[in-house]
Amino acid sequence: MIERLCWMAVPKSKISRSRRGQRRSHDSLKKVTYVECPNCGEMKLPYNICSSCGFYAGRDVLASEQS
Ligand SMILES: [Zn+2]
Repeated sequence: MIERLCWMAVPKSKISRSRRGQRRSHDSLKKVTYVECPNCGEMKLPYNICSSCGFYAGRDVLASEQS
């Protein structure tokens, strides 16, 4: 009677090594990529504003935003 009060979810069948591997094929983390900023030479994320000088696509994006 006690076991009826505490039902938990139980897998219907065993997941094979192959199925488990297929599920985990997307789990690995990608290596973080950096590119050198063409303006200041600092390492930055590609297609992102440079955190050190605020340049993007050859111009100072952060400075023009304030004016
Ligand atoms: Zn920069």
